[in-house]
Amino acid sequence: MVAHFSGWFDGAKKIERRKMSEQRQRPASDDWRRNGQEEHLLGRRLFFKQYRRYSETWEHDHCEFCNAKFSENDGDLHEGYTTEDNYYWISTDCFEDFKDEFQWKVDE
Ligand SMILES: [Zn+2]
Repeated sequence: MVAHFSGWFDGAKKIERRKMSEQRQRPASDDWRRNGQEEHLLGRRLFFKQYRRYSETWEHDHCEFCNAKFSENDGDLHEGYTTEDNYYWISTDCFEDFKDEFQWKVDE
């Protein structure tokens, strides 16, 4: 895990560094990936799945947070976390970053 800190004053840096050794840092409140997802994803049950096209004409989706592309094609993400209806997809990186805050429950 690599964390990048920029523009923080020294006191905050020290605190963040100590936290990093205990747990993965919670994304900042102004993290660029935030876009009001708590409205539809807070507390949801998620499933770790292989990505399968939704229909003939709908053959890819994007991570709800970082916009990474899911599809069955080479070079795209092939698995991640999704809601029961396969509607919302979340990349594994974003899942790790936001899982505590969004209180996701993962089913096998
Ligand atoms: Zn993502």
